[in-house]
Amino acid sequence: MMKFTKITASVGPKSDTRAVLTKMVRAGVNLFRINFSHDTGDVQGKKIDTIRTVAHELKTPIAVIVDLQGPKHRIGNFATEEKYKLTVGQRFVFDSDETPGDNTRVCLPHPDVIASMRPGDRILLNDGKIEMRVDRTEPTKIIATVVRGNEIWSRRGFNLPDTFVDGSVLTDKDMADLEYAITKNPDYVAVSFVQSADDIAYVRDFITARTAHKIKIIAKIERPHAVHDIDNIVAISDGIMIARGDLAVEMPFEQVPAISRHIIRVCRQMNKPVIMATQMLASMVESEFPTRAEISDVANAAYLRADSCMTSEETTIGVNPTHTVETMSRILSYADMDTIANPYDWSRIDNIPENNWSRSVASMAHLNNASAIVVFDRDGIATTQISCRRPDMPIVAVCNDETVANQLNLSRGVFPIYDTEIFGRRDTDAAVKTLKIKMGAIVIVDDGTISLREL
Ligand code: PGA
Ligand code: MN
Repeated sequence: MMKFTKITASVGPKSDTRAVLTKMVRAGVNLFRINFSHDTGDVQGKKIDTIRTVAHELKTPIAVIVDLQGPKHRIGNFATEEKYKLTVGQRFVFDSDETPGDNTRVCLPHPDVIASMRPGDRILLNDGKIEMRVDRTEPTKIIATVVRGNEIWSRRGFNLPDTFVDGSVLTDKDMADLEYAITKNPDYVAVSFVQSADDIAYVRDFITARTAHKIKIIAKIERPHAVHDIDNIVAISDGIMIARGDLAVEMPFEQVPAISRHIIRVCRQMNKPVIMATQMLASMVESEFPTRAEISDVANAAYLRADSCMTSEETTIGVNPTHTVETMSRILSYADMDTIANPYDWSRIDNIPENNWSRSVASMAHLNNASAIVVFDRDGIATTQISCRRPDMPIVAVCNDETVANQLNLSRGVFPIYDTEIFGRRDTDAAVKTLKIKMGAIVIVDDGTISLREL
């Protein structure tokens, strides 16, 4: 069995040792996410070093994604640690005053948010458990009415689905984190709470002004504004994360599956890899067994042919990160092989002229019943394009650049190899041997030239 869907695993206190990271890679992890919402600086740098050590030991390309916290807004503290009940119809005020809050007001330490909100905008607190509407604003105050009541306590999340917040996506903390992260040469940087394509352009400028290392940028789609501007954001990004956690707070949750399908389709058309994220095996934070619904959710990501599925708390603070990865691998491999055995829509949705070249490669492989596509790839572009046609056979990408090989480990069905000798000799036999393929036709792609050979 082969696994075509890649696993992105978040790294945290339960998974940051060399021993556990090694087991997780053996169990099927292709990319690790380092979440700067939690630790920062050298604590995170050490995790990156350990991942690189493990990848070299196991001689396998593993990508590192640095995930920036972004403007995740939180309210300030209340006077006591207890929970405060807010009831429907009552008035509530957010202001810049750092005095601890009570039943009527609390500090919102984000002046840019206060300045951007308009009457009628919604406010969602504590993952949407409380909803309010803005009545009016003053320079340092938001006056709102509670529409859905519940309990609130210190430092809960504050989401503003209707509001476009003026200013940069990178907070001061993000900029400091990114300055540091750049020195560790990550393969990808993920940008949280993206609102428009300009946000990605800004981050790209920030990175290219500081390093020649080719770091790729992933836009996290978790705001309505990003959903509405999805074509431009996909066009400018190197990859996309469907960040269902915050997305299901900011959008009506019943729309999240439809939005996910749409994003995967746009990504395939524009040749960009896409990660399905959040709560994929959430019950495994505490349990050794996934729920039936989670098994279906993971399998359906494979059937939708996303490039990757992500784990969050399951592998950062969960009872058994390695077992979680093994579980995800089992579900993905079975669904991936089933998609190939029972195809129903080959070639299909992306008949746009720009993709003619990669469609030719995929159709040649299909028509000849090829057992693999081998790509000799310097920059990863050809492989990414072919992967986005979702051919039913593995794509072996032979690279002479380690970062390119790491980055290609995000792409569906791609088995990257970093080996300058195999690359230099154009050694197809050595390349397919890594997959233990014994016979059949092989499609070979080298510098735009497509050829066919029997093994
Ligand atoms: P987060 O992003 O885990 O950094 O919040 C993913 C999401 O919101 O789903
Ligand atoms: Mn998020």
